[in-house]
Amino acid sequence: MTGAAPAGDEGGAGTDRDEAGGRRPWDIRGWALWRRPKRFIAFLIIMEVLALGGFAAAFAGTPAPTAVDWVRFAILAVGATVHIQLTQRQEERRRSRTRTVLIDLIAVWVFPAVLVLPAPLVVLVVVLIRVQRWFTARRPAHNFVFSSISHSLAAALAHLVYTALGPHDWHSLTGLGSLREFLLVIVAALVYEGVQVIYVGGILAISSPHPTLRSVLGSKADNLLEAITTGLGAITAVLLVTLPPAVALMAVVTVVFNRLAELDQLQDDVVTDPKTGLLNMRGWSEAAERALNRVSRAGGDLAMLMIDLDHFKWINDTFGHPAGDDVLMSVADVLGEVTRPSDIVGRFGGEEFLVLLPDTDAAAAEIAAERVRSTIAGLRIETTDKRGARTTVTGRTTSIGVAVYPEHASTMRALVQAADAAVYEAKENGRNQVRFARRG
Ligand code: GH3
Ligand code: MG
Ligand code: MG
Repeated sequence: MTGAAPAGDEGGAGTDRDEAGGRRPWDIRGWALWRRPKRFIAFLIIMEVLALGGFAAAFAGTPAPTAVDWVRFAILAVGATVHIQLTQRQEERRRSRTRTVLIDLIAVWVFPAVLVLPAPLVVLVVVLIRVQRWFTARRPAHNFVFSSISHSLAAALAHLVYTALGPHDWHSLTGLGSLREFLLVIVAALVYEGVQVIYVGGILAISSPHPTLRSVLGSKADNLLEAITTGLGAITAVLLVTLPPAVALMAVVTVVFNRLAELDQLQDDVVTDPKTGLLNMRGWSEAAERALNRVSRAGGDLAMLMIDLDHFKWINDTFGHPAGDDVLMSVADVLGEVTRPSDIVGRFGGEEFLVLLPDTDAAAAEIAAERVRSTIAGLRIETTDKRGARTTVTGRTTSIGVAVYPEHASTMRALVQAADAAVYEAKENGRNQVRFARRG
C-alpha cells in the first residue's frame, strides 16, 4: 500500500486559476471547462463516460441495504461530517498552498465504507463528503465534478473487487483467515488508489506543460500520507464492525491528523519558493552546506551554477509581470528536468537561480551549464500579454557563472560570490554564455 498513489483531489488544481464554478452553472456555453485545451476536455469527458460503466458494474445486483448497513452508514456520515466541519478553515489554508497533488484525508471515512457497506451507500458516503467539501474547494466546477466522480468510482470499484474476493465474515476469523483478509484489504486499497492515480494523475499529466513524475504522482511524503490515511480507514472499518462506538475515537484522530498534515506542509513551505516550487535560499543553503560538508570530507569536488536570465525586465515591460512569472516557472521546471536528483536547485532571487552539482568537476559542470543554457534557449513558453491575449515567449537566453570546489573557492559563501562574479563577466561579454569563475 505504501507509495501506491496519491489520491489527488482537484485535478489540474495547480494550473487553473479560473473563477470557482462560474456564477451561472446553467449557462453551459459559459463553463470554464470550454476554455481548456481540447485534449483536456476530451480526456475529462471520456473518463467520465467510462466511469458510468464502472458504476453500473458496481451497482449491478447489489442487495438492498439492511438496517445494520444504514446504522454503519450513519456512523461514517457523522464521523466524516465532524472531521470536515472541524477542519474546514485549516483545510482551506492547506488547499490554497498546494500546487499540484492534493491528498484528501477523507479516505479515513471512504475506505471503511468500501469494505463494509453495499455499493450504493459507498457512493453516498463520497457524495455526502464532496457536497460538504464544495464550500472549501473553490475550484472550477468541472474540476470538482471530475475529482468527485473519480473518487466515487475508485471507491465503487475497490468495493466491487473486494466483494468479488469475498465473502467476508470478520466475526469468525481464524489466525490464518485474518491474514488472508488483511491481504484482501490491501488489494482493495490498491484498487482504490490505482483508480485515483489513473484519473487524477491523468488529468494532471494532460493539463501540465511539463508533466514530471512528481507533479503527476505527488511527492514521497504525499504518498506516505495517503497510504497512512487509507490504513486509518481500514482500522475504522474494523472498529465499525466490532466496536462501533469506538469510531468516535477515529474522528478525534483524523482531526489531529489533519493538523499534523498541515504542520508537515508548513515545514515544507519554510524552505520552498512559492512561485516556482524550488528551494528558497534558506532551503537551498541548508542542503548546499550539507552537500559541501559531505564532499569535503570525502575529498571530492562540487560545482555551482549561478543562472541569470538575460534582459528579463524586458519580458515584464513587454508582456506584463504575469508573463514574467510564467517564464520563471518554466525555467524552474527545466532546471528540475535537466539536473540529476542529487543536484540542489534553488531560486536565489528575482530571476537568478542556483544549482549545486555534487561530485562534479569543471569539465562536467561545463556540460551541465551548457545543457541548461541551450534547453532554456529552446523553450517555447505559452503565456499571455498585457491584454490577456495568448502569446508565446521564445529565445530566452541566460548568462551562467560556474564555480568549482575546491578549485575556485572552499566555502559556500565564497563559491556563490565567485559564480556571481562570473555571471557579471558573462553579461559584460555579451550575455547568452557560460563563464567560469577566476581562480581564487
Ligand atoms: P540582465 O540581462 O542584465 O540580467 O537584465 P535583466 O533585465 O534580466 O536584469 P534586471 O536586474 O535589470 O531586472 C531583473 C528584473 O526581474 C527586475 C524585476 O522586476 C524582475 N523580477 C524579479 N522578481 C520577479 C518576479 O518574481 N516576477 C517577475 N515577473 N519579475 C521579477
Ligand atoms: Mg539578475
Ligand atoms: Mg537578468
